[in-house]
Amino acid sequence: MILELIANLYKPSDRHQSAIKLAEYLNGRDFIIFIKDPVIDVYLPGPGFTQTLYGGSTWDSFLNSAAKTQYSGKLAYPDKYNLMDAIGYPGPDESIIVLLGTSVLHPELDQLNKIMPLIVALLKQEQASIAVKSLAVTAEKETKKAEKLAYQLDIMGQNLRKTLMQQQKDKAEINDLMKKKDEFMNIASHELKTPVTSMKAYLQMISQKLLPSLKDKQLSSFIEKSNKQIDKLAVLINDLLDVSKIQAGEMTYQFRKFNFSALVKDAVDEALNSTSEHKITVHCTLPPDFEVTGDRIRLEQVLNNILSNAIKYSPSSDEIIVNVGLVNNYVEVSITDFGIGISGEQLPQVFDRFFKVQNEDKRFFGLGLGLFISSEIIKAHHGEIGVDSCLGEGSKFWFKIPAK
Ligand code: ADP
Repeated sequence: MILELIANLYKPSDRHQSAIKLAEYLNGRDFIIFIKDPVIDVYLPGPGFTQTLYGGSTWDSFLNSAAKTQYSGKLAYPDKYNLMDAIGYPGPDESIIVLLGTSVLHPELDQLNKIMPLIVALLKQEQASIAVKSLAVTAEKETKKAEKLAYQLDIMGQNLRKTLMQQQKDKAEINDLMKKKDEFMNIASHELKTPVTSMKAYLQMISQKLLPSLKDKQLSSFIEKSNKQIDKLAVLINDLLDVSKIQAGEMTYQFRKFNFSALVKDAVDEALNSTSEHKITVHCTLPPDFEVTGDRIRLEQVLNNILSNAIKYSPSSDEIIVNVGLVNNYVEVSITDFGIGISGEQLPQVFDRFFKVQNEDKRFFGLGLGLFISSEIIKAHHGEIGVDSCLGEGSKFWFKIPAK
């Protein structure tokens, strides 16, 4: 009889019922073979036996003892409220046989023990195939996830490519527009230069010949004003032409030795000509005959620009200070005003092409080119140019060029 009951354990689908019948034959309630899970290294009921067990820690200590030797104790079964006698003993190949509902081993259990190696091998094989199946299921799930991710990545890649292509197109369009603007500026400034030069010449002639004898005060002031406006226009056109040259890499320089203090004096005199409201104080520590090598006209252009800015952007302050000296083999010039100043966030851009500080005040005339041209000229002299400024307090523009 017991052999038939044991034989029934081979069928995994009926194993639970067969185990209970076997247990009843052995005067117990249930019969479970535990095998060690190779992955987590824990004893688990073999496939097909009762799987849900209550009171985990009591089961753990029971199984730990029964793994070594025959052991009797009480276990929660079939639920956590019921404690039941149980007996367990080690089986072959790291297995444990547990009989619930009795603490006495039935003599016929010997029959079972003889074929236990076969049963345990079968259980292990089943356990392995379950593990393989669950691995296959997990692998399939992960593959699906990976496929989904790959698809999302592909869409992201496509979008990124589209954005990049659009950006490249935009960049090309901007470059094209900038090129057209440069071309237009170049043509416009060349076309304007000739008429403005002749207008200037005519006005100068009128000033020289007519002004001294002119009685009409209003007419004289018109001629003077026109003269000043023409000068401004000429500066603008020259700036535009210079920028075109810089962009085309065609700016040329005539490097010669010249007296630096004389250059500063000329620039200051010219600046004073354009204002009656400002006074310019010069502190020059250079020896009177000190010479540097550079393009005098271009360096004067830098000084003119910084000085005219100092005047232009100081509508309510009259003081401008120019410092000139020799520091570490560099001739250093600084021009300080106490005018409107520049905010910290706009400061880094003042030397950019076409940059004008954004403010409400529209009375400041200019294209935002002077400082860009100045910085290019100083670069060509292997020097440095910079500015320190505080909004509402004034600015100090400085540059330095090698003394030799
Ligand atoms: P612009 O012809 O417009 O004066 P610049 O290139 O000479 O062009 O100067 C660029 C901008 O820097 C100006 O538009 C102005 O906003 C600011 N800036 C230049 N110099 C001064 C200064 N001394 N004080 C305040 N702002 C200045």
